[in-house]
Amino acid sequence: MPGIFIDVDIDESIRSDAEVAKRLEESCPVDIFAAGEAGVEVVEENLDECVLCELCIKAAPPGKLRVLKLYDGSALEA
Ligand code: SF4
Repeated sequence: MPGIFIDVDIDESIRSDAEVAKRLEESCPVDIFAAGEAGVEVVEENLDECVLCELCIKAAPPGKLRVLKLYDGSALEA
């Protein structure tokens, strides 16, 4: 089930990047990202566990990942 409060916007250019996928998987403390065979996967059932720590933003190439706060329309981004 998708998040009610949080979503993530991943740029197509990094979706299939195995190295980025691994970094994201390792960075998120609540396991919202997984490194799958096709690259970056989002674990939808964990989205609302996001603690807004910005570690994923720092792990991704600048401007390629946003954490969307659906509850107020703002976003975390590099
Ligand atoms: S802000 Fe933190 S908790 Fe939220 S998705 Fe990024 S790494 Fe995970």
